[in-house]
Amino acid sequence: MNIKSEAWAARRFYGKGSPFLGGHESKNDSIKITLVANAGVLVEYNGVGLLVDGIHHEEGHPFSRVSENDMKLMRQGYDIFANIDYLLFTHEHPDHFTPQYVSEHIQVRSVKGVFLPNKSDGSPDLALLLNHVQKLAIPFWTLGLEPGDTKRFALADDLIVTAIGTRHMGPQYQTIRNDCFLLTLAGKNLLFTGDADYVSRYFKNALAEVALDAVFVNPVFYHNPNGQEIINEIFRPRNLVIYHMPFEQDDTLQFSYMVTSDIQRHGRPGIQTHVLRREKQSLCFSTPPLK
Ligand SMILES: [Zn+2]
Repeated sequence: MNIKSEAWAARRFYGKGSPFLGGHESKNDSIKITLVANAGVLVEYNGVGLLVDGIHHEEGHPFSRVSENDMKLMRQGYDIFANIDYLLFTHEHPDHFTPQYVSEHIQVRSVKGVFLPNKSDGSPDLALLLNHVQKLAIPFWTLGLEPGDTKRFALADDLIVTAIGTRHMGPQYQTIRNDCFLLTLAGKNLLFTGDADYVSRYFKNALAEVALDAVFVNPVFYHNPNGQEIINEIFRPRNLVIYHMPFEQDDTLQFSYMVTSDIQRHGRPGIQTHVLRREKQSLCFSTPPLK
């Protein structure tokens, strides 16, 4: 990417007037989202932390792994990982979720709940993790919902998780379920799609009554014409965040280049577009003041 396009991209990604203010410190009354690695993000609001697809460290894919150091900090509860209350995983692929590391984490840190894919589609390691979760009496929910189905979990007055069932994108992965997570925090709606396939009927009814403040999609979803149609006709978000990006040093397939030209092509005035691709990059989203 040349300097000119970097500058253009920076203007585009961090444009003024957005409720997202990249890099700002989180206030109590704002939602802060911090990139851990790939589709792994930490969502914080009012002292509660939700880690989505944020514990994985396997090779064999062109995306970035959660660093050893970050997983250590998580286990120690240090730094940005002081409050991880809920762990959520869209599906069991090595760039999203490594069950063994989750087992190690919950041995040493208490969590309030875990959202997992369905055991029947999962690995022996997922079954072992489920045993651990049960032994430790941690509340858990296994999903792998039917495409288009939803399940709502009211975790607190101002915190609702709604899982939306989809299939994983790509013809080779159609048997894999991918649960999207709609997080409703203080009335704001944030949708994390993981590797959901770009199929309208998975989302249409589930989101019919939902005004989305931010939607997180991967670069392939954003690139695909069907994905664009879903973004513009069903999601219609105020903010569109492209995540599931490799860090610069790992970007062997040049996702950054693709995304930059896709934003040029598809970006539209009514939607603020952001790209999460730098370690610990954060977005803050303001909410009504706490009472
Ligand atoms: Zn993935």
